[in-house]
Amino acid sequence: MNITFLGATKTVTGSNFLIETNKYKFIVDCGMYQGVEVREQDKNYDEFAFNVNEIDFMLLTHAHIDHSGRIPKLYKEGFRKPIIATKATCDLCSIMLPDSGHIQEMEIEWKNKKRVRKGEKPLDPLYTSEEAIECLEIFQPVKYDEIVDVNEDIKVRFNDAGHMLGSSIIEVWVTENGKTEKVVFSGDLGNNDLPLLASPTMIETADYLVMESTYGNRHHMQNENKAELFLDIVSETLDKNGTVVIPSFAVGRTQEILYELNKLKETKDDPEFRKKYETLMRVPVYVDSPLAISATEIFKQNTDLFDDDVKEAMSKGDNPLEFPGLKFTKTADESKALNESNESSIIISASGMCEVGRIKHHLKHNLWNPNNTILFVGYQAPGTLGRKIVEGAKEVTIFGEEIAVNARVEYIEGYSGHADQEWLLNFIYSFITKPKHIFLVHGEPEGQEVLRDKILETTNIPVTIPEFGEVYELNDEQIKYINKVDEPVQYRPLRLEAIERISLLKEELRYMEKLVKKEILVESTRDEEIEKLNQKLKDLEQMIVKVLE
Ligand SMILES: [Zn+2]
Repeated sequence: MNITFLGATKTVTGSNFLIETNKYKFIVDCGMYQGVEVREQDKNYDEFAFNVNEIDFMLLTHAHIDHSGRIPKLYKEGFRKPIIATKATCDLCSIMLPDSGHIQEMEIEWKNKKRVRKGEKPLDPLYTSEEAIECLEIFQPVKYDEIVDVNEDIKVRFNDAGHMLGSSIIEVWVTENGKTEKVVFSGDLGNNDLPLLASPTMIETADYLVMESTYGNRHHMQNENKAELFLDIVSETLDKNGTVVIPSFAVGRTQEILYELNKLKETKDDPEFRKKYETLMRVPVYVDSPLAISATEIFKQNTDLFDDDVKEAMSKGDNPLEFPGLKFTKTADESKALNESNESSIIISASGMCEVGRIKHHLKHNLWNPNNTILFVGYQAPGTLGRKIVEGAKEVTIFGEEIAVNARVEYIEGYSGHADQEWLLNFIYSFITKPKHIFLVHGEPEGQEVLRDKILETTNIPVTIPEFGEVYELNDEQIKYINKVDEPVQYRPLRLEAIERISLLKEELRYMEKLVKKEILVESTRDEEIEKLNQKLKDLEQMIVKVLE
């Protein structure tokens, strides 16, 4: 059989792999590229590198958009064969894919306004919310741990990956010419101590392993005090009558925070702690993200997947996703009302990196006030609004308005849905029959290289870090590199990227102008410092002139 790597190659988004046997073709995951670079997002518009009509079925590891986000596009292009995934993944896709369609529509509307003003042709969205709903009909739910015969030659088994609700490590057995070989796709592997969910399953045998490597060079901080740190920050803010705004991924992280908030009550018996806890329980906690609300519902419908501690608590009647004071705001009006009230509260809202969604309104209304806290609980990618705030920007632009950052900004590390280096290695070490070859995907090159060296050092299993389009023949002796499919032609030209860079530059210049003006007008600034600044600005001016030439 052959495997072709068509996404998540030396990057963390766009997962997509093609397997061809002598009789069948199937894909594993069909995710969206989600980088902040326009160029990266444009890849979503590229044609698929395979003929959609020749694919016999698809396997989906989990519902995250970087693994599932191009399914509606696949369907739009005529794919009607089954997509096999766990029930929870199917449930989550039923809300996440339409939501993704909605985001596509909104983004294209915004881009088209600009294009029309410039006399350019408007673009179509990648897919609409409605189109995303249509593709749900081909999803075929399966259970964890059961071997499913897809056809006479191919069997699959989904195992809990502990990364998000319904996430799976997929074992695939392929029989060709009377001989069976097994490929394991790790999907995204969870962190060992993720709240709510069970730990990742350890797989016993594989001939070939395709493994994620997001944190190939990282060791997670052991953060047993996360909940206490959280409580301290929150109660200090509430003591000042401030509001705590938590930008959070709608699916997964939000439910983890709700669970931890609920769990705090049993952790300690100390009076100081009690006092803080009571302060916390007095204020309303709003979950303000329509997607997070639906996702929380789906979590409640799939409690059989929770870890044993949680199940035990539930058998005693304690629902880990419910507590007094918790309120869900459904409508846009209810959401707006949060910003008009002076009441101190905790607001959990998406998106987690502050790029889209209701969180932007909450930041706009709360960032200026020094009594408030913006509490980050997840990774912020470079270039995002969240990253700017975490890195200490004094001012940010939200909806075209400049907002001063006076609020306290905090970042609690240790909430992560991905295994770190130690756990990625443990996953490999725990195979009883070790894979003959490992392919590392879903990671940045630096992390992947460190992880590859670690694997080679400790196991002697050969490791490949594939590039986009590389095809490998998986046979008994050794894997064989056969060829490389071409990178598809860019759907949209580079021009758009250049234009966006100019507007970014303009924004930066405006910000710089303000800073510099402030500096120059201050009497205490010495002449030689002004002179230095002057020289730097002159250099900058010359650089811009050179670019134009
Ligand atoms: Zn994921």
